[in-house]
Amino acid sequence: MHELIKQDGARYASQSGLLAPDTTGMNFYRADPSLTDLLRIHLADTLFRHIEPHLDRLGELAGGHLDECARLADRHVPVLHQRDKFGHDVQSIEYHPAYRELERAAFGEFGIHAMSIRKGILGWPDKYPVVAKHAFTFLFNQAEFGLGCPINVTDGCAKLLSNFGSEELKAKYLDGLTQTDMTRLTQGGQFMTEKEGGSDVGTLTTTALQEGDHWRLFGEKWFCSNADAKVVMLLARPQGAPPGTGGVGLFLMPRFLDDGSQNHYRIVRLKDKLGTRSMASGEIKLEGAIAYAVGRLDRGFVQMAEMVNSSRLSNGVKSTALMRRACHDAVTVAKNRVVFGSRIVDLPLGRRQLMKIMLPTEQALSMSFLTADALDRAEAGSQDAAALLRILTPTLKFRATRDARKVCGDALEMRGGIGYIEEFATARLLRDAHLGSIWEGTGNIVALDALKRAVGRHGAESALAADLHVRLDEATATPQAWRDRLRGLTDRAVGFAREVAAHADNEADARRATSLLYHVASAVALCWEGARINEMRADARRLLFSRLVLDHRLSSGDPFRLTENARQGAIASLLLGERPARLAEVGELLLAA
Ligand SMILES: Cc1cc2nc3c(=O)[nH]c(=O)nc-3n(C[C@H](O)[C@H](O)[C@H](O)COP(=O)(O)OP(=O)(O)OC[C@H]3O[C@@H](n4cnc5c(N)ncnc54)[C@H](O)[C@@H]3O)c2cc1C
Repeated sequence: MHELIKQDGARYASQSGLLAPDTTGMNFYRADPSLTDLLRIHLADTLFRHIEPHLDRLGELAGGHLDECARLADRHVPVLHQRDKFGHDVQSIEYHPAYRELERAAFGEFGIHAMSIRKGILGWPDKYPVVAKHAFTFLFNQAEFGLGCPINVTDGCAKLLSNFGSEELKAKYLDGLTQTDMTRLTQGGQFMTEKEGGSDVGTLTTTALQEGDHWRLFGEKWFCSNADAKVVMLLARPQGAPPGTGGVGLFLMPRFLDDGSQNHYRIVRLKDKLGTRSMASGEIKLEGAIAYAVGRLDRGFVQMAEMVNSSRLSNGVKSTALMRRACHDAVTVAKNRVVFGSRIVDLPLGRRQLMKIMLPTEQALSMSFLTADALDRAEAGSQDAAALLRILTPTLKFRATRDARKVCGDALEMRGGIGYIEEFATARLLRDAHLGSIWEGTGNIVALDALKRAVGRHGAESALAADLHVRLDEATATPQAWRDRLRGLTDRAVGFAREVAAHADNEADARRATSLLYHVASAVALCWEGARINEMRADARRLLFSRLVLDHRLSSGDPFRLTENARQGAIASLLLGERPARLAEVGELLLAA
């Protein structure tokens, strides 16, 4: 298998000189100084130094071997078998060896699913903060997005179990969920969605009947990713419980019973999906499946929401990974493809298009780590960070997943017609990107979560405003006038979000308000990071991205006015150049009216 993948990879490495090369052979860690910078900002130095060689290795694999595995796994989709070869009714899903290889890397070699739960992964004596874990998520998903779901839900199941499960359940299932030994690993699944509604979870009809120390489940689950997961967390309504989300309980459902037989549920069929084709998503009929209650039965939905929120962060990171990969591809094309006698990167519209691809990617990277850092601090006990996390999570999930659709589409177009052809990764990236904004809550649902609940119910926007003001206070190396401008925009975005949240009549503005929060938060984060990076290695380029947020994403402007082409061109030159930019150089570009 290894050899097969290697040979296929070699086919790509020897590309024709006529067409622009792709990213084959690129080390996605080394090619990404922004990632290194942000990790150095958010992580303790000892931890950063410990993980860097591992990130370097994953970066190399993701740009080569794993990418080729992802291409193969996408083309050779999983197959559901109803019986074994002896005619027994034992269901199984057959995966291409390339998918198994991706699993081995993610779960076995790097242990991404277990990093924040189990000590000792990759030789680190403690659990990893979420920031460190998502650095691995980010690199891995640049090669393979489909398996990103099983990695994340396995992590989420283990977290739910360790937070709410009984000691007995933990003793039985936690070790397997956090194993890096592939022979002992039991991957997780999270089955919530039913035909009645994925958004309107309170309408679910799966019922649970108590039978001694366990429950029996009856009903159907409509979207079940990682369909053959060994340990599943799901929601069901105990018989007699009230309607709505308040009446649903959280249950753990094993794939196999203690005697080794399959639990009483059937994978009816696998979905034929647009993207994430490597990974099996199925429909499941529960025919008296044995399950165990997790935590308080009347708190099932609230507990599951914890998993959903950490999945939303993971989703944001994974969409950022797709954008980064698309960005690498677009820049590679633009620097190599010659049209009308010029490289695309030297043409005004080519540069502008690259800025449109790079900016949302850098915004999402900043927002991903800001959110992951808030989660780390919230878990360490900070109430302020918990409130910040409450608003950042849906904000990131909303905007980054939507931006990924556009960025991946634009990067595909940068390659021209061949970008549309499945031999190149761009087509796969675009297909995968369309999922990020659907699962774990569609765009409307997460925008409503941000506005109605995080702002309207919890007042979490105050924590965001406070955090952004502190960051601006800290970025003393940057021009005062720029920080004042960002401060004003922060207050306006927060004020607008409050106004939208205050009246039900304003609900249709929830998406716009969420986007505005995202844009100002990312502009401030980019400014704050820019100041820190400038201290570390005298490069102020990130500050220019904070200005581009204003130019590209926060100005409605007059559609008939010419763009300030000279200034935009100068910014693009600095951002696409190889050398660092001095603070003095960027100051004027930053402060233009
Ligand atoms: C590939 C894939 C894998 C998946 N894997 C899983 C899985 O493993 N586990 C799982 O539980 N689920 C999974 N899902 C399901 C996914 O989470 C749901 O599809 C999603 O939450 C939307 O639910 P729905 O499909 O029922 O759409 P609906 O809830 O019917 O929504 C339809 C439309 O109505 C809109 N809408 C809903 N409510 C409102 C509102 N109040 N205001 C305005 N608009 C609204 C939505 O935005 C959407 O556009 C998966 C989905 C896909 C595509």
